[in-house]
Parts: sequence; structure tokens; C-alpha cells
Amino acid sequence: MIVVLSPHLDDAIMSMAGTIYRLGVLGIATRIVTLFGGDPAFTGPPSAWDSKRGLATAGEAFHARREEDRAAVAVLGTDAVCLPYSDSAYVAARDPDAIWGSLQPHLADAEAVVMPGWPLAHPDHEFTTKLALDRLDGNVPVLFYAEQPYSTRPRYLAAYLAGRTPAPLEHVVGSGLVWNTIHLDATMRATKSQAVSCYGGELKAIGARAYLDAVMVRVFRQERIAHRGTDPMPELLARAL
Ligand SMILES: [Zn+2]
Repeated sequence: MIVVLSPHLDDAIMSMAGTIYRLGVLGIATRIVTLFGGDPAFTGPPSAWDSKRGLATAGEAFHARREEDRAAVAVLGTDAVCLPYSDSAYVAARDPDAIWGSLQPHLADAEAVVMPGWPLAHPDHEFTTKLALDRLDGNVPVLFYAEQPYSTRPRYLAAYLAGRTPAPLEHVVGSGLVWNTIHLDATMRATKSQAVSCYGGELKAIGARAYLDAVMVRVFRQERIAHRGTDPMPELLARAL
């Protein structure tokens, strides 16, 4: 079992759908665990971001996002878990112990855990990776994925292509990260496209159709996974490269 941590509902699929699909073809089970899926029972107003959906409450927006995710996950045939914590667009207390308590049972059978690794510019992404690195058993191999579409934004692209380790990870990974590229073939691209298109509302919220068209070309061409320079790539994932 390979577990992919997704801060928000679309992160793992935007960044890893091709690889997740490929692992499935190889008979390797995967599970996406989303940390900040939001509580559908929450009746407060939607965030500025979620209000773009035109729904009255935050709970309705969370529900809509979860429905989109259910459809996307079904395309890939992966296992998926959605935790009810609020993303940073909402003012809410965040208790790392509670979040870890909810997350840990879904990592019990993990043979490797893959988490956001570049550029870690979003606070929820940085929180997810730091929490996992801080709390995970040292025997479980940890890997990092390039966060799409962020990693292909112009301000991050040069350093990303140079294979740099983001500042929040530098002291943890020590020797630096080794980035591996997974080239998506036609079937992988088509499957990823089908999964990503399920996030209609979220893609609309990202806005700027022209920007999306430009980044999507890169998003669908390749995915990248890093391992620590001191540890080899786990055998299960090496097979997908
Ligand atoms: Zn995100």
C-alpha cells in the first residue's frame, strides 16, 4: 500500500494521477488521504475561495468538493479517505495532535508515504508535510511529489527544474532530494485528464482559462517524485518510473 497525502481534495490527483493509475495497472494498491476536506455539516459562510461556487454555506461547498473528488477517485480506482479539517481559508483552531490522530490509522499499512515536496508555498501543504515528517515512524519510506500546478508556475519553475530542495525541508532531509520524472504515456494522460476534469468547480475557482490551458500542458506531460539522497527509491514506486 502506497499512501499519498493530499492537503486539499485535488492536490494528489493534480500532482500524481498518472502515477497512481500506473501503480494500479501494476497491481500496487494506493490510498489518497486528504487532510483539509472540510466538514460538510459546517453552516458558516463559505471562504472567499469557496464563495466562487455560489453556494450559501461552507458545508455545501465542502460537500460539492467531496462529490467532485469521489468522481475523480473512481476514475483512478484508488482508495480515498477525506478528513474533515478546515483549510487555511477558514479561521479555525488547528490541533496537530487531533489531525495526526485522525491521519495515523490510514497510514498503518503504508509501505511508503508520498507527500507534497515542491514548492511547499501553500501553508496547508507545508503543514501536511511537516506534520507527517515529524510524526511518522522512521521506518516508513517517505517520498515527495512536485505539487501541480504550483511547481510549474514561473516563479518556482527554474529552481524546480534545477532539482532544489525547498527551504522548509532542508534541515529534515539533510542530504537533499533526488527528483525522478515519470513521463505520462497517452493512456496515463487520458486517464489523468478524465480525473482532473471531475474537479469542475475547483478549476473554475482557479480561474483564468488561458493560464490553465498553459499549465495543463505541463501538468499532463510528466509527474515528479523525489526521494532522500541517502535512501534508495522504494522498490514498489521504482516500478512505476
Ligand atoms: Zn492544495
